[in-house]
Amino acid sequence: MSEKKIIIAIDGHSSCGKSTMAKSLAKQLGYIYIDTGAMYRVVTLVALRNGWINNKVPDTQKVINGLKDIHITFKWDEKLGQNTTFLNGENVETEIRQLEVSQNVSPISTIAEVRHEMVRQQRENGKNKGVVMDGRDIGTVVFPDAELKIFMTASPEIRAQRRFLELSEKGDKVNFEEILANVEGRDKIDSTRAVGPLKQADDALVLDNSNLSREEQLEWTISKVKEITEEK
Ligand code: C5P
Repeated sequence: MSEKKIIIAIDGHSSCGKSTMAKSLAKQLGYIYIDTGAMYRVVTLVALRNGWINNKVPDTQKVINGLKDIHITFKWDEKLGQNTTFLNGENVETEIRQLEVSQNVSPISTIAEVRHEMVRQQRENGKNKGVVMDGRDIGTVVFPDAELKIFMTASPEIRAQRRFLELSEKGDKVNFEEILANVEGRDKIDSTRAVGPLKQADDALVLDNSNLSREEQLEWTISKVKEITEEK
């Protein structure tokens, strides 16, 4: 692989395997991986812990005031082969994946000040290139000049089924209908919010992985990276 490092932006719907693909890609290329969804999940976790969310409605001012005390870092866990998310030094990786956080994260991520602060940190993380970042607005807002933009999607039922299996395997008691409703609800809020809505960038390549294996997706993406890096 060429030495030239690029920015790879991966956007798409909830639970369509963006982070799985982004992680494998970063590992194969020796790039940094940034899971921006985890960052919005951390803010949501803090809001839940402090009682700043009532009936899925966040107290916007309290969340904004709390932002300055939220320091998010990632560390690669060699043993687990995955990124671990830390809130002020505390490992919150498991907690931020729970359904309660998933059910409250979209309203939190509609708050403009939350988005501005997360985008600022994301740009900081990508300033030296050699980064794979996944989210909803990476190719449109965070890095509009990213050399490679991929927009991933799959049908809501397939995405809910995958998330159901993932949570069941972890031992969580979950209900398929509830997960499907969450996936569809998040898509709706994410696509219609005023700031940084989920939208396919004009120059993004679409990857519908409804019928593709992880290996096939990775192979396809690596071929796109090569086309760009070897061109230079
Ligand atoms: O990627 P993940 O499903 O973990 O993201 C959780 C939530 O964070 C999304 O449903 C979305 O509301 C929000 N998000 C966002 N912008 C990003 C990444 C995630 O608004 N760049």
